[in-house]
Parts: sequence; C-alpha cells; structure tokens
Amino acid sequence: MDQSADVVIVGGGVIGLASAYALACDGLRVRVLDRRAPGREASWAGAGLIAPEAETPGPSPMVQLRSRSARLYPLWADQLRSLTGVDVGYRKCGGVDVAFTPAEDDELRSAAGVWRSQGVAHERLAAADVTRIEPALGPEIQAVYYLPDRAQVRNPWLIRALIAAITHKGGSIHAGAAVEDFELERGRVIAVRSSAGRFRCSSVVVAAGAWSGALLETLGVRIATPPNKGQIVLLRSDRRLLGRIVEHGKNYLVPRDDGRILVGATEADAGFDRMPTEAGYRALIWEAHRLCPVLRQAEVEATWAGLRPGSIDARPYLGIAPGLANLVIAAGHNRAGLQLAPATAEEVVDLVLGRPPRIELRALAVDREPAGDADLAAFRS
Ligand SMILES: Cc1cc2nc3c(=O)[nH]c(=O)nc-3n(C[C@H](O)[C@H](O)[C@H](O)COP(=O)(O)OP(=O)(O)OC[C@H]3O[C@@H](n4cnc5c(N)ncnc54)[C@H](O)[C@@H]3O)c2cc1C
Repeated sequence: MDQSADVVIVGGGVIGLASAYALACDGLRVRVLDRRAPGREASWAGAGLIAPEAETPGPSPMVQLRSRSARLYPLWADQLRSLTGVDVGYRKCGGVDVAFTPAEDDELRSAAGVWRSQGVAHERLAAADVTRIEPALGPEIQAVYYLPDRAQVRNPWLIRALIAAITHKGGSIHAGAAVEDFELERGRVIAVRSSAGRFRCSSVVVAAGAWSGALLETLGVRIATPPNKGQIVLLRSDRRLLGRIVEHGKNYLVPRDDGRILVGATEADAGFDRMPTEAGYRALIWEAHRLCPVLRQAEVEATWAGLRPGSIDARPYLGIAPGLANLVIAAGHNRAGLQLAPATAEEVVDLVLGRPPRIELRALAVDREPAGDADLAAFRS
C-alpha cells in the first residue's frame, strides 16, 4: 500500500525523532520508519549526559552545535512537557571532572584552558570545597574541577516524549518498518521502500544510526558509520549517594533523582554485537568503586550495551547526500547523539527547507576528509 509524507525519516533513534519533531513543528507532514520499536538502540542505551553551554563557542562547528543544543535543551524539556505531559528528566545537576594522577591533572588543566576560552563555567576546587560539593568522592582523587552547568536527561523518557509530541503534531511513527531501498527520479528520492510498504515523499532524512552506512550504500553513497559498542552498569541504592555527575576520562557516574546511578561506559569494536560482557561489567564496577567508594553499598540492578554510530572522525555527518538534492543525512554522532540532538534537528529542518544553516556545516559534510581529533563531538573524551 502506498503512503505519503512531506518528509520520511529513516530511523527512530533520538536523531530521527528529534528531527521529525522539529520538522513537524515547522508544519511538515512527517513519517518516521523504524525497523524495530523506535528508540530502542543507542538512544535507549545511552547515559544522557548533556554538555554545558559555552558563552563564546568560537568558530568550531562542533562547539557551536554542542552549545546550541545545551541552550535548547531546557526549552525543549519545557515544550515537550507542556505538549505531552512527559518529563524528560532534564536536570542541570552539575558535574565534577576528576584526576587521579599528575598527568591526568595536567590534562584537566589544559581542558580548563579550553573551557575558559569558550566561556564554559568551571572552577578548580580546593580540598575543603570538594567535601562541600561532592563529599562521596574517593580519597585517591588528586584534583577536582566543578562544572555547574553539566546536565543530564533521561533518554528513554525523552524518546517517549518525542514520540508523543510527533503524534500530537500530526506525524506518524511506523514501528517494524525496515527500509530496504529508495526510488529515484532525476537526482531525487521520490519514495522509500520498506517492509511496511512504499512511502512517497518530497524529502528523506536518513538517521539510521550505525546502520546508516549500509543503507546508504544501496544509493551508491559511501559513508562509514562503524558501531562503537558501549556498556553501562546500573546501580541502585535506597538513599542518594551522589549529587553530581562524576567524570574521569571516558568513565562517568550519573546519579538519577531516584537514587540509581549509571556507571559508564566502555568502548569496543565488536561489530553489531550488543551483548554486555563480564569484562566490561568488571571494569565499570572497579572504576565506580575507585571514584566513589561508598558505591560498594549499592546493588547492581542491570547492565546493558548499545551501539554508538561512529563516523570517519570524531564528528557526525550532517548534510545533503552528494548528488541527491532531497536526501539529508544525520548520522555518526558516536558518544554525543543525545547531547547534540536539538541543534542537529534544527539543522536538519534548515537543510530540508533549503534555508541557510545556522552553523557552518562544511566540516560535517558527508564527503569531507577526516578531521583531526581536536574537534571532538563529545564534550569530554
Ligand atoms: C553506553 C552508551 C552511553 C552513551 N552515553 C551518551 C551520553 O551520555 N550523552 C550523549 O550525548 N550520547 C551518549 N551516547 C551516544 C548516543 O546514545 C548516540 O549517539 C545516539 O543515541 C545516536 O542516535 P541515533 O538516532 O543516531 O542512533 P540510534 O539510536 O541507534 O537509532 C537508529 C535507529 O535506526 C533504526 N534503523 C536502522 N536501520 C534501519 C532501517 N533499515 N530501516 C528503518 N530503521 C532502521 C534502528 O532500529 C534505530 O532505532 C551513548 C551511547 C551508548 C551506547
């Protein structure tokens, strides 16, 4: 059966859903197709850390995208709550970034230099202030920086709110609709073919996470979106043991309001396998106890893993597919898709409508050369 839409969005993770929501807010008829239930891949598995806002982001498109998202998050949280009644769990809980060794302390000092130049609020804490801000930190920690604007979101709640908001705005979400290929006419996509039927459309957004590369190959568009497996352990405690996000390199603890604490996250090249491993579990628990010994009192409630969508470098792809004027690609957000979703969605709308982008997108073009490591998508690590 044929169905139609202004825009078909392939992939119902946070990037696809946020884009669909933003497009629907602009009055477009959207359909989101997901081969599973939407939001059950990386966007469910993630921890929900949100970068702080930079007051003077400078020319870097990544810092701009991150900072714009940081500014949009509280607005989105309010809008989504009033539209759907769902609290997305956005909280500016603050965070501490810690070092165990002099070398790590040096790294933090240079990170602090970057934060200063970008206008990211931060403060190096004296020992007495550490006890005041986050008393549960471990005794081996040698240096602590406090970032008051570090925030978090409950990603499964965000997914639920986005789905409800898209529906409320007249869009539709098709679960179990695996996109197989695309119909082309004179350099444009005119329809998307899926296991749930054919969808005619004026524009397409491909936001299929780590599966985007393989899907786009059917169009001759070559982009690498290698899966980057990440594991998390969820701890539970009767009382709140931590108040702030704690970060140590690529490891972190994220305290939820209900006393639960997420311990994240591993990184592994394991293909499309998303089974949690014993080694990953042990490494995370060891790190959690070192960062915060009081967590030995907490029970392990669950562990899971998800597949972050990688790219050729540390940046996502955000742009028009070469040679296909009405196909937008928004994928490869790796460790930062939750934090970058609102600003990514804004850019997707501009690309679909042919409006000038708010951020210089050349550095994120689908056919770019790989960028150096300096311009990371994620705020830290
Ligand atoms: C352990 C872990 C911790 C993380 N922590 C954070 C964090 O704290 N902060 C942060 O910002 N980010 C974090 N991330 C990263 C973040 O989760 C991802 O960057 C983000 O979820 C990517 O979203 P996405 O929509 O691109 O991909 P996904 O969520 O993977 O969604 C892609 C969707 O496309 C669908 N799909 C695939 N192929 C097809 C097809 N052919 N047809 C139809 N549908 C298809 C899939 O079913 C899926 O639902 C974390 C990730 C992990 C794994």
